Amino acid sequence: MVGNDIYRGRFAPSPTGRMHLGNVMAALMSWLSVKSKGGVWVLRHEDLDPERSRLTYAQQIEDDLLWLGLTWDEGGLDNRGDYGPYVQSERYEVFEEAFKRLADKALLYPCFCTRADRLAASAPHLTDPKPLPCHCFFLTEEERETMRKERTASWKCRLPETARNTFEDGHYGLFVGEEALRDPVVRRADGAWAYQLAVVADDAKMKITEVVRGCDLLSSTPLQLAMYDLLELPAPTFSHHPLLCAADGRRLCKRDVALHLDELKKQHTAKEVIGLVAHAIGLTPEPQPISPQELLPLFNWNKIPKNNIIL
Ligand code: GLU
Repeated sequence: MVGNDIYRGRFAPSPTGRMHLGNVMAALMSWLSVKSKGGVWVLRHEDLDPERSRLTYAQQIEDDLLWLGLTWDEGGLDNRGDYGPYVQSERYEVFEEAFKRLADKALLYPCFCTRADRLAASAPHLTDPKPLPCHCFFLTEEERETMRKERTASWKCRLPETARNTFEDGHYGLFVGEEALRDPVVRRADGAWAYQLAVVADDAKMKITEVVRGCDLLSSTPLQLAMYDLLELPAPTFSHHPLLCAADGRRLCKRDVALHLDELKKQHTAKEVIGLVAHAIGLTPEPQPISPQELLPLFNWNKIPKNNIIL
């Protein structure tokens, strides 16, 4: 075992494009948080979205992480570790088991809304459209039969009345969502597994103790905590970090080509890229070149801002 197995963190990228500086920040923050405790850093590829995921991107993400000096202790495409495989498209049995557990509790119902279905395989980020309110839970058996003749349904999980849209974040403190929680899609009509089910089932199976990720997933956390309860699984702690934004305030995305790692690699060393991100997130007074290892003694959540960071 490489690190202290009491602390287990993870980086869970979706292989849908090249890494950009925002992804570097997410990887670095989860690495620093768990490595500063001497723990284990797990790499899991979240390739559930059949339309957008590519194995070549997963390979490039691994090359980029190694170039940056962010070496994982467990996981990756070669499935190093005791809780593999570490590629979600190879873990359908785990999701099947969680799905069955919810079905056995009579918590699943068919949903015929196409938009919620389409969005379900990816983590919902800020700019993604929100699923609309849905009344499928209240359909009678007869109405469901009629609907089924028109289209295949996805599966949603009924959340209990007691599920609250709030939780205590390790960095932001008390989060309170604006609306009541909505029942999540757990399996798409085409059979693809949904992010909200898979992320919970996998983090639990991989014995992850701390989730560190960008604050656009703050609002997914109460839902995931409700899923942990329903599946009767122990939940990790959650700490979110601010996002890197483009000059107009948008979260960095695939369109910001100049900040893609393949462009940055042409002009900068790995230490320069890490130094840039470390300075942006408040860990160093200047953007001087630095390695992840050298950053460890400087890491402290108290230095991390809460507002998003404009580059
Ligand atoms: N795979 C998700 C993404 O890349 C991250 C999910 C998570 O960290 O929970 O957006």
